Amino acid sequence: METVIPFPPQPTVAVAGTEARFPVRRIFCVGRNYAAHAREMGNDDREPPFFFTKPADAVVDSGATIPYPPETADLHHEVELVVAVGAAGRNVSVERARDLVYGYAVGIDLTRRDLQAEAKRSGRPWDMAKGFDHSAPCGAIAPVARIGHPQEGAIRLAVAGRERQAGDLSQMVWSVAETISCLSRLVELARGDLVFTGTPAGVGAVGRGERMDAHIDGIGDIAVILV
Ligand code: MN
Repeated sequence: METVIPFPPQPTVAVAGTEARFPVRRIFCVGRNYAAHAREMGNDDREPPFFFTKPADAVVDSGATIPYPPETADLHHEVELVVAVGAAGRNVSVERARDLVYGYAVGIDLTRRDLQAEAKRSGRPWDMAKGFDHSAPCGAIAPVARIGHPQEGAIRLAVAGRERQAGDLSQMVWSVAETISCLSRLVELARGDLVFTGTPAGVGAVGRGERMDAHIDGIGDIAVILV
């Protein structure tokens, strides 16, 4: 195909145990999926899941150096289990939802909290609070073929060596299967989609020069540095 400008680069994420990479199509994120985090943000902990998105090229590999984003003085970390979708599906039942999953990774949903607070106050979209450049660090994907479907295990994040967030996958309000099923009623899921599944309690600010280390038992790790 002849194009008037060069094709933009295809965003990809690393896959554990291979040089081959996972091409990213879209990034969906779940708001509020751990009861304690919902409460720390002032919300009821039994609300149905809701979704927002980030651009596919917001992904950043583990080990990367991330420029502190513009137009914020309150950048927050949110460690999350990331689901990598390897098969398409729409109106998928909860029972079949896991069949769509290629693998799992540790991600960080970076958030310009001050812009999000202003957006909430004024009833405006969250896009610029959530979907900015480099806002979706994502570690290597661990394939289901190797690790299965972890439903419990510690999820944690430290800033500059100090633990900030700690939870367990078993505390998710909506399971991976329920989340995928629900999302598949809103959009047709496709190969290459990533789903950030929400964060446990303990979100907070991270500053220039600070390193974030995050981990999920049975899945992997991620480390990024802000500059
Ligand atoms: Mn989040």
